[in-house]
Amino acid sequence: MTAQSPLIEASSPHVMNTYGRLPIALSHGQGCRVWDVNGKSYLDALGGIAVNTLGHNHPKLVPALQDQISKIIHSCNYYHVPNQEVLAKKLVELSGMTNVFFCSTGLEANEAALKLARKFGHDKGIERPEVVVYEKAFHGRSIATLSATGNPKVQAGFGPLVEGFIRVPINSLESLKAATDGNPNVVAVFFEAIQGEGGINPMHLDYLREVRALCNERDWLMMIDEVQCGMGRTGKWFAHQWAGIVPDVMPLAKGLGSGVPVGAVVAGPKAAHIFQPGNHGTTFGGNPLAMRAGVETIRIMEEEGLLDNAANVGAHLSQALADALAAELARGAVREIRGQGLMIGVELAKPCGALVQQCADHGLLISVTADTVIRLVPPLIFTKQDADEVVSILSPLIQQLLQA
Ligand SMILES: *Cc1c(COP(=O)(O)O)cnc(C)c1O
Repeated sequence: MTAQSPLIEASSPHVMNTYGRLPIALSHGQGCRVWDVNGKSYLDALGGIAVNTLGHNHPKLVPALQDQISKIIHSCNYYHVPNQEVLAKKLVELSGMTNVFFCSTGLEANEAALKLARKFGHDKGIERPEVVVYEKAFHGRSIATLSATGNPKVQAGFGPLVEGFIRVPINSLESLKAATDGNPNVVAVFFEAIQGEGGINPMHLDYLREVRALCNERDWLMMIDEVQCGMGRTGKWFAHQWAGIVPDVMPLAKGLGSGVPVGAVVAGPKAAHIFQPGNHGTTFGGNPLAMRAGVETIRIMEEEGLLDNAANVGAHLSQALADALAAELARGAVREIRGQGLMIGVELAKPCGALVQQCADHGLLISVTADTVIRLVPPLIFTKQDADEVVSILSPLIQQLLQA
């Protein structure tokens, strides 16, 4: 390696300044470990924000992708892409739904869901369809998805927002009913089964069942954004499956391609045939490289039992954190440790953004979201030893911060 100053390699003066980045540039990874351009190693408890399902340089994924790249990377949707059918059939089997539209990102999947909801309304004569969305929700940063998002910081400066959204608090059937009773224009309820960016806030299983029943009763689409909490992270393929329900529309992305951009909207019978030729499309969606990544990711997850691993290691990590932070939990300085499987939030009683750099200094990658919530969404190959290492680095830093 040439002798370059780390500050030069970890800065990007010609890239738009849209992220508050750490002064770190990663060069390569192996399993749950990554190295920066200066050779420092980190345990990866962020997984590229719940993206690197199989960790880094997975010995089965990499050769499969190399094989695919040498054959064809992109064709286009004027032609059939055989692995679209393979991946769609698999997602349909895993979800109990019926049809899939492929795209490349989370916001794109959510845009498609919102278009489905509006056309669902128009098809039954509703001229101005409205969609119920939630406080603290995050659905992406396009104009429509940022309008659906329940975070004023994401929306600031980008008005006028898209109309046709009704916002309610999570886990309150009463509020949902109060906000919609007597409104004939409601067509869908749209939410994350576990809110990610909003601070790892789970929808209660009872609430999911109640909303399912209400959607049936009122002929609304139940649309569950599983972009972050889906694809095995919670120990089931999709987080809503803990409630034993099936949604009508389910956007996916993040972990679906284990690092290759793959998005999808999975639909059940009520929504599967709303789009007709010409209604929707995207150039990159479902391309051969993306589809191979999706097919292989799921195949490897099944072969390696990664759902069980996410459940077991996640439970171990949550418990170990609760043990290490028992005193802080008791006195309320750590408010709560919550989540499911390998989607864990540790909420402190004060802002903790400084922990991100401090953890990195100690060789651990995490994130902080909603100002006060430490977010752990590591690769699903995470081991109990990895979990113990997280606790041994993170909990003393939390304790230090709380004392400051
Ligand atoms: C990340 C995320 C999105 C947006 O995905 P992008 O790929 O960044 O567009 C949407 N919904 C949820 C729940 C997410 O976590």
